[in-house]
Amino acid sequence: MKLKGKITLVTGADRGIGRGIVEVFAEEGADVAVNYIEEPEKAEAVAQWVREKGRRSIIVKGDVARRADVEAMIDKVWNELGPLDVLVNNAGIETIVPFLDLTDEQWTRLVDVNLRGEWLCSQVYCRCVVAEGRKGNIVNIGSIQAAKVLPGRTHYAPAKLAIEALTRNMSAEMTPLGIRVNCVHPGLIDTDMTAWIMKSADVLPGILAQISLGRAGAPREVGAVAAFFASEESSYLTGQSIHVDGGWVGK
Ligand code: NAP
Repeated sequence: MKLKGKITLVTGADRGIGRGIVEVFAEEGADVAVNYIEEPEKAEAVAQWVREKGRRSIIVKGDVARRADVEAMIDKVWNELGPLDVLVNNAGIETIVPFLDLTDEQWTRLVDVNLRGEWLCSQVYCRCVVAEGRKGNIVNIGSIQAAKVLPGRTHYAPAKLAIEALTRNMSAEMTPLGIRVNCVHPGLIDTDMTAWIMKSADVLPGILAQISLGRAGAPREVGAVAAFFASEESSYLTGQSIHVDGGWVGK
């Protein structure tokens, strides 16, 4: 129970890695707010799972790339669950488009959600924490693609690499104010985002051959490392990025 009583907001938490993070956090004793953008039923199912574990949970709708949504979301969590101890910036999208075909709109939306969204949620959260003189903790979700080249990701990969710089720079400014900031870079994790890879007889073997453990990861394996960063077990870590990738980067 290394997160006992820690009030946590996980963005993009109605499925995939976000759901895995919520589950591990709840099992470690956290009360968890589940952010979603489209499907309240899915988010409610996650919140119900948390309540069945004996923890508190609410769902909060909001687009992480819209300041008004983010402010309303954090306000709701603060009022209904209490002051937020931990923010996990997980929400993200991936599109695969050849460099020569990528449009301004595709670039802008992806970078807005994946990079600006993490910056924006963090800024709104940190302003609240600092205003109340509290301590806080941020876990950013990046990607293996901060370190590995995959085709059609000239927008996605730079946005994810920038999460590492965002983590370091926020850490430098926020840690002295009591907010540690760290980053998890997932490798190939079995979710809706990667379902097409998991099903592809052409693509999957080539990727698995590069992974020392020889398999895709599960969302909860990312959740376990996020929980470590959010807990006192990592009390001397801040500004760090770690690959949870079964040994893909290291191979
Ligand atoms: P996923 O299954 O596609 O789930 C993405 C989640 O993000 C969903 O809950 C989605 O909400 C939410 N979301 C998307 N845009 C949003 C927005 N503007 N505001 C709020 N929520 C939004 O993806 P995943 O595989 O779990 O990925 C989660 C994170 O891990 C992403 O940041 C992704 O880039 C990163 N990642 C994944 C992998 C992998 O192998 N799966 C590898 C490296 C990094 P809705 O359900 O409402 O659409």
